[in-house]
Amino acid sequence: MEEILLNRPGKKIILLGNEAIVRGALEAGVNFVSTYPGTPASEIGNTFFKLSQNKSYKGYFEFSTNEKVALEAGIGASFSGLKTLVAMKSFGLNVCLDSLIPFVYTGVKGPTVIIVADDPSCHSSAQSEQDSRFIASAAHIPILEPSDPQECKDFTKLAFQISEKFKIPVMIRTTTRVAHQKMPVKIEKLPEKGAKLLKGRFVKDPKKFVTLPPRVLEMKKELLEKIEKIREFSEKSPTNYEFNRITNKKIGIIASGISYLYVKEALKELDLNLPVLRLGFFYPLPEKKIKNFIKRLDAVLIVEELEPYLEREVERLAKAVNCKLGVIGKKLLPETGELKPEIVTFAVAKFTNKKLKIENLLNPALSQKGGGKLKIPRRMPRLCPGCPYWLVVSAIKKAVDTKKVIFGGEIGCYMLFGTPAVNMQDYLSCMGSSVGIAHGVKKAADKQKLIAFVGDSSFFHAGIPALINTVFNKSNPLIIILENQTTAMTGLQPHPGAPSIPNGIKIENIVRACGVKHLKIIDPVNQEEFIETIKEFLEKKEVSVIIVCKPCIQIKK
Ligand code: SF4
Repeated sequence: MEEILLNRPGKKIILLGNEAIVRGALEAGVNFVSTYPGTPASEIGNTFFKLSQNKSYKGYFEFSTNEKVALEAGIGASFSGLKTLVAMKSFGLNVCLDSLIPFVYTGVKGPTVIIVADDPSCHSSAQSEQDSRFIASAAHIPILEPSDPQECKDFTKLAFQISEKFKIPVMIRTTTRVAHQKMPVKIEKLPEKGAKLLKGRFVKDPKKFVTLPPRVLEMKKELLEKIEKIREFSEKSPTNYEFNRITNKKIGIIASGISYLYVKEALKELDLNLPVLRLGFFYPLPEKKIKNFIKRLDAVLIVEELEPYLEREVERLAKAVNCKLGVIGKKLLPETGELKPEIVTFAVAKFTNKKLKIENLLNPALSQKGGGKLKIPRRMPRLCPGCPYWLVVSAIKKAVDTKKVIFGGEIGCYMLFGTPAVNMQDYLSCMGSSVGIAHGVKKAADKQKLIAFVGDSSFFHAGIPALINTVFNKSNPLIIILENQTTAMTGLQPHPGAPSIPNGIKIENIVRACGVKHLKIIDPVNQEEFIETIKEFLEKKEVSVIIVCKPCIQIKK
């Protein structure tokens, strides 16, 4: 932890991609950081959290109650002139989109960087395999995409510079392999006053900060003009460059993010010398640079994870400069799951008609059919041995016929109730949604019994409005709030009700204030009481809530 605050320019320290983002923000002199924990972005908040407990660090840090609130706190800090960083995982972008779009219109006062980490292959994500590039570009926010931890640090600093120069928030999009990759990172000077400039000042400027028609339409026009200026900046940016600049080849590759590193590995493996256009500035794209690259080619391979975003953009640009160009991307590369070096090597070999030395091992299709040599048995995740949730499973299995009751799940360790050993999950979506969906099911099918699970952190995140809706619009699911006193799944971050928080907010007070009449707080060790309460509450005509209070065993370690 001390190393990240080291002030020895030129020294190399080993950092995770997420830690390198923290270091980049510190070098840029960040004053205000807010986040909601979400993997693969969690280490950004965790590192700032540890720093904030160190007296030598004077910047402000908070775990906010959700990503929208985190961004809104960041907007307020930026409007008051502070250098601001907001971090989240992919779905957090969806949660905060309502606030992000007007923020891009108003622009920043204090430079602001937003980190969004996507999770191809859903290593730590449940609800979808999201490609945030489409969403972010629809919001017209400039996006940088680093490939490794050194770039994570450098791009974070650059993002603050772009934000300051163009008065616009700037996004850095990472993916799991970039966020969780480690390498020696060359550090630069930490600003002497940077983190100490915590005090900002909000200066009234309704023309800038108030998005009301007709001004909002002018703001949009100004934003689009700004984007064109940033595009010119992007054309000259060293983050976009040609690797292996060879002008007499008729085929080439375009790649960004982690895919660029895989392409370099593939070229080495296949002993190929091809021009590669690496894009670090993702939105607005350096269109002239791309056009110059593709106009001399017969075919280009686009290597990118998830959706064919670049592929479509290159197809569009090719119409103007080289309409016969063969644009190949998702024909050779999957749209689902993260890319791996062997998948990219296989695609590059196909694209170039180069024979692979060890085809069966590298060919992902053959490998899936059992042709590959590497066979690793699939393991399902499961609740920790000794997890208090096992007591919840046990009580419910004794209280009801699980085949006849509908179980609503969402994001948290308790989503593992959906694994075959437990088999208590009939729907699962995003944070806070188990209660909202429960209300709809009960309105549509009121004769069926329903139990909706929601974690304590999820309840604070997005469950409260849904609970109010069940009371307001009168439905009667049984809601079980699993109060394990932490945000367990992402690394035990505190939430507003955690015992470590002085004067923490009590969930039962909120539940009562929402108008819930049937409420019980239960220690699940008391199985008989728990079982009887489940049976009793499932018969109620109004919504009922059981708060199961037992700390996650990992807190004590
Ligand atoms: S981390 Fe805590 S809540 Fe999650 S499964 Fe393990 S013990 Fe249970």
